[in-house]
Amino acid sequence: MREWQRVQNGAHSGPAIQPQAGVPLAPLTTLGVGGPARWFVRATTADAVAAADRWARDESLPMFVLGGGSNLVIADAGFDGLVVQIAIGGIEIGQQGAETVFHVGAGELWDDVVAAAVARGLAGLECLSGIPGSVGGTPVQNVGAYGQEVSDTIREVTVFDRAAVRVTTLSGDECGFAYRTSRFKGNDAGRFVICDVRFALRSGPPTVTYPDLVAMFAGRSPGSVTLHEVREAVLAIRRRKGMVVDESDPDTRSVGSFFMNPIVTAEVHARLAAAAGSAAPGFPTGDGRVKIPAAWLIERAGFARGHRRGRAGVSSKHPLALVNLGGATSRDVLALAVEIKRRVSDRFGMALRPEPAFVGFDHDPDVAYLTEA
Ligand SMILES: Cc1cc2nc3c(=O)[nH]c(=O)nc-3n(C[C@H](O)[C@H](O)[C@H](O)COP(=O)(O)OP(=O)(O)OC[C@H]3O[C@@H](n4cnc5c(N)ncnc54)[C@H](O)[C@@H]3O)c2cc1C
Repeated sequence: MREWQRVQNGAHSGPAIQPQAGVPLAPLTTLGVGGPARWFVRATTADAVAAADRWARDESLPMFVLGGGSNLVIADAGFDGLVVQIAIGGIEIGQQGAETVFHVGAGELWDDVVAAAVARGLAGLECLSGIPGSVGGTPVQNVGAYGQEVSDTIREVTVFDRAAVRVTTLSGDECGFAYRTSRFKGNDAGRFVICDVRFALRSGPPTVTYPDLVAMFAGRSPGSVTLHEVREAVLAIRRRKGMVVDESDPDTRSVGSFFMNPIVTAEVHARLAAAAGSAAPGFPTGDGRVKIPAAWLIERAGFARGHRRGRAGVSSKHPLALVNLGGATSRDVLALAVEIKRRVSDRFGMALRPEPAFVGFDHDPDVAYLTEA
């Protein structure tokens, strides 16, 4: 990680940018599908983000913000506007009372931050080990796994606000975090460019609440499990499921989970068991509702691991990951996703919602169907 790069409030000043024309986007994503960006630029400072925003306005072009590309489906036609890849680096670690604050540039690799926290004996991020992508991507869908979400530790986010044309700071409470979403993905999608994030961490024991982790440490006294052991356990579980990006493993050529786990009322959960003809798994969310594993719905709807449809398929390691088997187009992936959503809906009356962002699809019927509730 590089030294902290100071973010300045430079909405009206700053460097001129020189976007490149026709840059392929597929290689910048984990799914590896889609066409080029009409214009592309990397922004290493908030000033450069402001300059890119100004450039896109001057050219009357839409702008898309790219992080690590691990949660994106890019249209085969590409993106007819300016793609700004956020490459703002830097990490600064300071103490505030009992908390250690990590102030991290949005372009840093997420897993490097998790590793740095664990190495310092700081709890709060260990269950989020192995998730690909950038730090700036994590608040967008309130990244979560194995019993932790980034909203548990995010103290503040510095953003370039494209509506107000200035750099500002949002507290964690102002980010509108909920299960796999936030205001950055919801009502204010496209408005804010995340430039840096402050995480507040504490020394303490790891979180071992998720069933897979509890099973892994069964027989150990709760206080004896270390942060390092939990990180290694999470990485091992994720590798088994194809959820750690590995260039040599086509099962990881995905966006991770393609669909979110539906959260339903207890009545809907009971009806689901009747439709399935057996007890349906579900995890109480604490507000009287139940989270149902989308993977279970998909398998029960008839999509086995390894199912193929042309050059797209269901991962052989996890039914929730749709993979590019090699040479797939985004249309191949969408056709498979639509088939899955339709069959789950017919069988269980439940509308799966996709997790990734769809880029460059204007008025596309498949995307409209996938994103409707
Ligand atoms: C193998 C695999 C496993 C995964 N496992 C998990 C998991 O366990 N839990 C989980 O929650 N996710 C998981 N994901 C999804 C993904 O890794 C995360 O959502 C990640 O945080 C996305 O970050 P990114 O930088 O790659 O964002 P991108 O994919 O580049 O972008 C995703 C969205 O965020 C926006 N965005 C990105 N950076 C910024 C920024 N700086 N400012 C404003 N908007 C921005 C983009 O515009 C886009 O809308 C997984 C993905 C893969 C491929």
